[in-house]
Amino acid sequence: MSDGPVTPFEARLCELAEGGVEGVVDFADAVVAEAIRRGASDIHIEPFGATLLVRFRLDGVLLPALQIPTQVPTNVVSRFKVLADLLTYQSDMPQEGRIPRDRVNAPADLRVSSFPTVRGEKVVIRLFDPETQDVKLEELGYPPAVREELERQVQNPGGILLLTGPAGSGKTTTIYAALRYLLEKSGGARHVVTVEDPVERMLPGVTQTQVHPGTGLTFARCLRSLMRQDPEVIVIGEIRDRETAEIGMEAGLTGHLVISTIHSGSAAGVFTRLLEMKIEPYLAASAVNLVVAQRLVRRLCEKCRRPARAREELLGLSEELLGRAHTAAGCDQCFNTGYRGRTVLVEALRNSKPIREEVLQRAATETIHLTAISHGMRPLQEAALEAVAQGVTSPVEIRRVLGQDWNG
Ligand SMILES: [Zn+2]
Repeated sequence: MSDGPVTPFEARLCELAEGGVEGVVDFADAVVAEAIRRGASDIHIEPFGATLLVRFRLDGVLLPALQIPTQVPTNVVSRFKVLADLLTYQSDMPQEGRIPRDRVNAPADLRVSSFPTVRGEKVVIRLFDPETQDVKLEELGYPPAVREELERQVQNPGGILLLTGPAGSGKTTTIYAALRYLLEKSGGARHVVTVEDPVERMLPGVTQTQVHPGTGLTFARCLRSLMRQDPEVIVIGEIRDRETAEIGMEAGLTGHLVISTIHSGSAAGVFTRLLEMKIEPYLAASAVNLVVAQRLVRRLCEKCRRPARAREELLGLSEELLGRAHTAAGCDQCFNTGYRGRTVLVEALRNSKPIREEVLQRAATETIHLTAISHGMRPLQEAALEAVAQGVTSPVEIRRVLGQDWNG
C-alpha cells in the first residue's frame, strides 16, 4: 500500500486483490468507477515487479491512486484487454481497442491501449479527452477583454487567429468553442472547413477532414484542394511546416478566416516561429490578426488551501505576494490532491502597426513581446501573479506549468 492514510478505495481494492483471480472482475470495475468518481481523464495500470501501480490523471497531472503487492497484476491487465476485445495471449506487441460504455458502466466508451514494458504489460485507459469537451467561449475562463477580442476576431471575414501553448494547454478546446460561437453567430451562413489530425469532435454544419500523412493526404495537400471548395472559414489543426503555414497565410490575406495552432512558448514567439519556418516577414506581419497563448493551471481546493509558509514555496516571491500566496493541503473533497479543477492563464497579442513593423524587421521575440505589453497585452507572467495573489492557484503549481524560473 502507498504511504499515508488508507482511503476506502484502497481498502476495498486490497480486499479484492486478496480474493485473487476471483476478485479481478470486481477489481477492474472498481478502478474504473473510482476514476470516474474522481473525474480522472486517464487510468494508468502498470506492473512494477510483484506490485501493481494504478495512477489517475486528474486535471492534467498523473497521481498514484493505488499500489498493491499481490498476484493480481497480470490478471488486471488481462481483464482490461478482455473488456476491450484485445488478444489476451499477445502480450509482446502494443494493442489498441475500445471498451463499450455499458461493459463498465461508464458515461462514454473507453479507449484502451496496451504496451509491453520490461516489467510486463502496461495498460492506459482514456476515459475522456479534456481537450475536446463541449465548452462555450464564456466557459473557458478567459478574462472578459480577451474573450471579447476573440469574439470580434472570429466574426472577421479574413485574417489569421493563432493559438499557442504546449500539449494539453486547452488550445483545441478554445478552437472548438470559438467555432461553436462562430456557427451560432453566422446561423450556418459561413462555409466552415477543418483539416484535423485527428478529428476529435463532430460539429454540425462543418466540413471536417482528417489528414492521413501515410497516404500523402497531408495538411498542405488537404488545404490546397480545400481552397477550390469555396471555403470561408478554415481551421487547420496545427501549423508545423512551411507549406501549411504559407497556404494558411495566403488564405488569410485573400478573404478567408483561418484559425490554427502553432508551437511556441509565448504569443510574441509565434512570429519568430513563422520566420524560422521561412515564411516571408511581410506574410506573417500582415496575415496574423490575433495570437493567444495559454496554459492550464490547477485551482487550489477552496476547502483545504492554506497560506503558503514553507521556504521553497515562497522563494522568489515579492513582498506583496508573501502574505497572499496559498498552498495545497488535501482533504476528502479534492481526493487529497489539494487541487480541484483548472483555470486558464492567457496572453492575447493583437497585431498592430508597431508589431507589424517589428516583424518586418525580423525583431527578436523579446522586442515584440515588450512592444505588445506597451500596447496593452497582459502577459502570462502577470496573469500568473494575479492567480497567485488571489489564492486561485499556488506558486508551486505556477512553476510546474511556467517553469522553475518563474518568480512572483
Ligand atoms: Zn481539498
